[in-house]
Amino acid sequence: MPVLAACSGSGSTDAPAGTGERIVIVGAGIAALAAADELQIRGFDDVVLLEARDRIGGRIWTSSIGDGIPIELGATWIHGIRGNPVHEIAESNRISTVESDYDNAVLYDWDGQPIAPVEPGQWHEYMRLAHERPDQSLREVFEEFAAANGLDDNARRLWLHALSSMFEHEFGADLSDLSIMSYDGPSTLRGGDAVFAGGYSQIVVVLAEGRDIRLDHPVAQIDYAGPAVAVATESGDTFTADRVIVTVPLGVLKAGSISFTPALPPHLQHAIDALDMGILNRTCLLFDDAFWDRGVEWIGYAGRYPGQWSETLNLYPYLRQPVLAMFNPGSFGAEIEQHSDAELAARAVETLRAVYGEVPEPREVVSTRWGMDPWTRGSYSYLPVGADFETYREMSRPVGERLFFAGEATHSRFPSTVHGALLSGRRAARQITGLPR
Ligand SMILES: Cc1cc2nc3c(=O)[nH]c(=O)nc-3n(C[C@H](O)[C@H](O)[C@H](O)COP(=O)(O)OP(=O)(O)OC[C@H]3O[C@@H](n4cnc5c(N)ncnc54)[C@H](O)[C@@H]3O)c2cc1C
Repeated sequence: MPVLAACSGSGSTDAPAGTGERIVIVGAGIAALAAADELQIRGFDDVVLLEARDRIGGRIWTSSIGDGIPIELGATWIHGIRGNPVHEIAESNRISTVESDYDNAVLYDWDGQPIAPVEPGQWHEYMRLAHERPDQSLREVFEEFAAANGLDDNARRLWLHALSSMFEHEFGADLSDLSIMSYDGPSTLRGGDAVFAGGYSQIVVVLAEGRDIRLDHPVAQIDYAGPAVAVATESGDTFTADRVIVTVPLGVLKAGSISFTPALPPHLQHAIDALDMGILNRTCLLFDDAFWDRGVEWIGYAGRYPGQWSETLNLYPYLRQPVLAMFNPGSFGAEIEQHSDAELAARAVETLRAVYGEVPEPREVVSTRWGMDPWTRGSYSYLPVGADFETYREMSRPVGERLFFAGEATHSRFPSTVHGALLSGRRAARQITGLPR
């Protein structure tokens, strides 16, 4: 039964008679699964999903630490529950969520002393300057702001920490690569954020039920020159389809891992080149006991190197387990992928000791490496200086009547999010059903 029928406003859950068309969807992340669901609602009963990995969900990936404690390695939050399709699926399938509050935070200076965050009044001045200079990077704007306000070394460090928390950790890119455009464009949904105590993957499992999903099927070639589309996998299997929806991440398209015949049209190739993939990695640490304040969600650390090991999420409020997740974004996030989990644990503990003094060794550590993951090559898309939100719209345009695109980097209103990816999958399905037959 279609999972979204009850909340998508499509009316009946009885699918109409089959259309006789075969649709191949490349990928089995949230965009692909939402597309498959929408197609089923609209009467398409021959839909095959080809997924490169040995699991579904893509960048929604609930793993575990310790004795089966669920930890998110990818998406964590429902960003704004009101009107959010992810929240609707959770509610209609009785998947429980827990409220999360970004402002439930403490901040420590490099020497472990608690400090107040940057003054809101000063933020306004910086933001005003950034909005006046959308063609400059947030770093360039900061240098101008710092000079105008005569910031000394200490004030610079605290400011760069604040800017990293606000922008680098949000977009996964360095301040020197981001313009205020990244922050300005997408609308945010209201109602506060929420997390899944039992794991985000529950959403994916619900959507995947009953689908024809072929795991370990990395697609290498898509030939859409003829009346049917031929989709070839790395191992040489070929799937023929009337139409294909490509949902692979922007990073995979940028790397040219799939060859298209004919080559993708210039508007699309230009958009792929213009957007970029950010990196946000996390190191999850399980301890024997929580030695930190159990009720606080965010522990900030304004260390000597702003943005490095500076944001720690306390999972205790959601899981009732002594687990911390420490984030590293952008070029530093990419650099640490070269290190082993043991080395990363040592760096993490060093930071925690600066704040808490005596800190025991973690019982277990799990670290992500999204940049070197061949099936995503980064965490999510962002707008580098010079690109604008229209570029995302270009990514969403079908190529003729056979080739369609979905995924977070094809949604101009909510890029880089789960709900944006989900909505893009539904959109691609509607583009297909809107075709004259
Ligand atoms: C660390 C991190 C934190 C995040 N936090 C949040 C958050 O808190 N809230 C939020 O809303 N969003 C968050 N996101 C973003 C969110 O996870 C993504 O926007 C969303 O899951 C993307 O879904 P998708 O279907 O577009 O892509 P994906 O989930 O990446 O799905 C694409 C699928 O294509 C497959 N694939 C790739 N290449 C091939 C190939 N050649 N052949 C076949 N299959 C292929 C991949 O394996 C993958 O399964 C986060 C992402 C990351 C990485």
